[in-house]
Amino acid sequence: MSPWLAAARAAGTQIAARHADDVDQRARFPAEAVAGLKDRKLLGILVPEADGGPGAGIADVVAICHELGQHCASTAMIYAMHQIQVSCIVRHAGANSWQRAFMSRLASEQLLLASATSEAGVGGDVRSSVCALDEKRGRFTLVKQAPVISYGEHCDAILVTARRTPQAPASDQVIVVVPRAGMELQRQESWDTLGMRGTCSNGYRLSAEGEMSQVVPAPYADVSAQTMLPTCHLVWSALWLGIATEAMARSRAFVRMEARRKPGVPPIGATRLAQALVDLQSMRSNLVTQLHRYEEAIGSDDRLSALPFAVAMNNLKLGCSHQAVKIVEQAMLICGLAGYRNDSPFSIGRLLRDAQSAVVMVNNDRIVANNATLALALRDEPELLA
Ligand SMILES: Cc1cc2nc3c(=O)[nH]c(=O)nc-3n(C[C@H](O)[C@H](O)[C@H](O)COP(=O)(O)OP(=O)(O)OC[C@H]3O[C@@H](n4cnc5c(N)ncnc54)[C@H](O)[C@@H]3O)c2cc1C
Repeated sequence: MSPWLAAARAAGTQIAARHADDVDQRARFPAEAVAGLKDRKLLGILVPEADGGPGAGIADVVAICHELGQHCASTAMIYAMHQIQVSCIVRHAGANSWQRAFMSRLASEQLLLASATSEAGVGGDVRSSVCALDEKRGRFTLVKQAPVISYGEHCDAILVTARRTPQAPASDQVIVVVPRAGMELQRQESWDTLGMRGTCSNGYRLSAEGEMSQVVPAPYADVSAQTMLPTCHLVWSALWLGIATEAMARSRAFVRMEARRKPGVPPIGATRLAQALVDLQSMRSNLVTQLHRYEEAIGSDDRLSALPFAVAMNNLKLGCSHQAVKIVEQAMLICGLAGYRNDSPFSIGRLLRDAQSAVVMVNNDRIVANNATLALALRDEPELLA
């Protein structure tokens, strides 16, 4: 086990799990857990050694999201969203000195990054922007109606997508790093949701200003295809797998208790537990396979931008988002009333509500529609062991 995963496990079991129900009930930011991750220096692990970080890889982040997902899904989602932003800067900052200095600060100060990609007027279509950069003498201003910015009031900086200029088409986008000092957030919508209540993903009117060097040099089309999309789907799937893993752990404990209570009588839930473990294994295998695919492609912009890669990553998201809910539902059936109760050690309610966010977090219908277009252009099925 890596030292980062060991540290995340300690923060997850000792802090995040303890506060998870309160975070959920009060829809509050998991301040204790995020402080625990900062104390263990887990926010800056992707920052390369040359910029003052330890240079961990995507597999380390995936493992941590899976771990945290078992203890507090909101904490896991906050960590995942943060690392998606970090990975975009790490991979696409190039020689930009502002961005490199920002990465060093991120590692030394354990800055927390949030995301403003969704926008009123374009919904979940993150490859279109209404918001545009307005540049004058090397400085920009922007205004974005952002319906959802997770932990916007608790972060140190937000990565904002915008059109390159007010005249640019909706798809000619950039992504810009906006530290808290250069932004104003006016809250316009609150976050009272079924699940993932601790992400505090309120809606805001975001206005910002800064230097043009805060714009990530690569076009957002490349950042999105090569880094943001695969990283999103990998880290989200990892934390959803964490939720499903915890549901299975609770249902296994329930079946064991039943077996001890009535020796010699096979518990009714044992068969269903065995069946649900098939789904858990297939979810895990899908995640590991696509993680390896990404790790192998990471040095090649062509492979990362290729259609089969995009379809595979979309399929990972589609598959895992469905399977997570299905597995947690099975756990609910296995535990019965003990799972349905909110006050039982086998309670499944929070896990089920958190897992339900997976299909709407970039709506699956939108992703299927994208895949339908991409699938027509695909020539062959990928190699079995590619
Ligand atoms: C827990 C959580 C945290 C989030 N955090 C952030 C954040 O920090 N920053 C951020 O920017 N966003 C965030 N989001 C928003 C997320 O990224 C998506 O933008 C959002 O979930 C999409 O919302 P929507 O369903 O209203 O929009 P849409 O995707 O526009 O979907 C609206 C409706 O239109 C349908 N639809 C849309 N397009 C198609 C299509 N092509 N084919 C068929 N049907 C279609 C969908 O089925 C849906 O019913 C978060 C979401 C969640 C759940």
